Amino acid sequence: MRQIIYTTERVNSKPAVLKDGVLYVMPHYNLAVHRCMCGCGEEVITPIDENGGRSPGFWGWTADGINVSLHPSVGNFQFKCRSHYFLKNGKVQWV
Ligand SMILES: [Zn+2]
Repeated sequence: MRQIIYTTERVNSKPAVLKDGVLYVMPHYNLAVHRCMCGCGEEVITPIDENGGRSPGFWGWTADGINVSLHPSVGNFQFKCRSHYFLKNGKVQWV
């Protein structure tokens, strides 16, 4: 599998088409959305906070403009793929 380096895009609402390799951040809604990193195409929506993801049910994210981290891990057990991964410094790390 080719290695995608993730970046962020700030958007006001969810784009109609999500690109691979982009974590879309919607600060207005405290949400982020990305396509499942396994490549299955499912949309994964994660509530985000500015608190580093310390609130239960929320994820924290960091980005330095080039790469992005999302934590804790994302577990897509509701999808067929059941993928589970971390996004760290722009790279997917499988659990
Ligand atoms: Zn998937």
